[in-house]
Amino acid sequence: MMQTATDGLSGLRLGIAGGGQLGRMLLAPCQAWGLYTRVLDPDDDAPARNQCTEFVQGDFRQADTLTQFAQGCDVLTVEIEQVSAEGLERAEAAGVAVHPSAAVLRLFQDKGLQKQFYFDNDIPTAPFVLTDGLAGARAHAGRFPAVVKLRTLGYDGKGVAVVDTPAQLPPHFDAPLVIEDKVDIAHEIAIIVARSTSGEVRAFPPVGMTFDPQANLVDTLYAPVSLPAALLHRADDLALRAAERAGVVGLLAVEFFLTHDNQVLVNEAAPRPHNSGHHTIEACHTSQYMQHLRAITGQPLGDPSLKAAAVMVNILGAPQGAGPARLVVDEPAASMTGLFVHWYGKTHTRPKRKMGHFTVTAPTLAEARAKAEVARQCIRVEVVD
Ligand code: ADP
Repeated sequence: MMQTATDGLSGLRLGIAGGGQLGRMLLAPCQAWGLYTRVLDPDDDAPARNQCTEFVQGDFRQADTLTQFAQGCDVLTVEIEQVSAEGLERAEAAGVAVHPSAAVLRLFQDKGLQKQFYFDNDIPTAPFVLTDGLAGARAHAGRFPAVVKLRTLGYDGKGVAVVDTPAQLPPHFDAPLVIEDKVDIAHEIAIIVARSTSGEVRAFPPVGMTFDPQANLVDTLYAPVSLPAALLHRADDLALRAAERAGVVGLLAVEFFLTHDNQVLVNEAAPRPHNSGHHTIEACHTSQYMQHLRAITGQPLGDPSLKAAAVMVNILGAPQGAGPARLVVDEPAASMTGLFVHWYGKTHTRPKRKMGHFTVTAPTLAEARAKAEVARQCIRVEVVD
């Protein structure tokens, strides 16, 4: 009988710390391969809850909870950075295969350690200084105007302030900080790379990102990116270097700023599946979720190249309105060819909460963009009365 590379994996117990939408989408290839999946999340309404074999309600930020959860897993991975690195360390000591490792998680959990890592490894990044709290920021008043970031626990732009003086910083910035020069950004792109347990590496094609200026949140992603090949190759090299130097196993999603004077600067990176790779489900030969699974279980990596041009749009909660939610898809989107709607199964909406996304694929980017603009007008989150 013919054997496939995945035969040895059916029945493997994979633990995922975090049960959000990224965990939910990671579960699809796990089901295809017949894995036994366990998900840990504090929210009894977590998007991944109904898609896994076993849901464990608990806080992945607590070392004891995570250690106990890991006991039932052969391989443990994460879909969010804010997991207890100590818990991962203990799981490693107990013989669980933890990917990304506790050391990698510690590095990417902290924007300060990340910046230092880029500096130490000749990976260009915006000039910065590390400091502590509002008093520390005042001591560096000469660096302002600046972009100030909480070293830990910021996400989706919530830990980022663009200010002219330290006095404009909000009170919750009285914490360890990165103070960064404001970059003259021409383009923001992201490259997701995968590195497997055997050290094999592959990079997904770059995606371009446009931001919602109010929410500081990715609004639209598009691929392919038509920028000079030399710039994209440089970004590719830097993403692979970051993954190799940090010893990442699994995915590393690297966000870049391209400046008007053709500098390629790393902004930040995350060692997990990422919002900037949602389109890979329909637009690439291998999705980022399948690639992550392949990498952490030691399978050969898949072909990440694009099958089609794609545009991905986040479906956010309406600016006004919170409560029980439902998705509305009107015509012509409801019957549009090449439109793929993903609803994350969150029962409640809040202003700008990520409730889902949609991807449009088409032979050309111009066509994908045009269809995405039509779809955007037809797809919305409503509060159920
Ligand atoms: P988060 O981790 O919350 O996503 P980021 O560090 O990615 O935060 O910053 C969010 C956005 O803020 C970036 O995508 C970019 O648009 C803007 N930004 C961040 N750092 C800088 C900078 N040094 N100069 C100019 N804009 C920046």
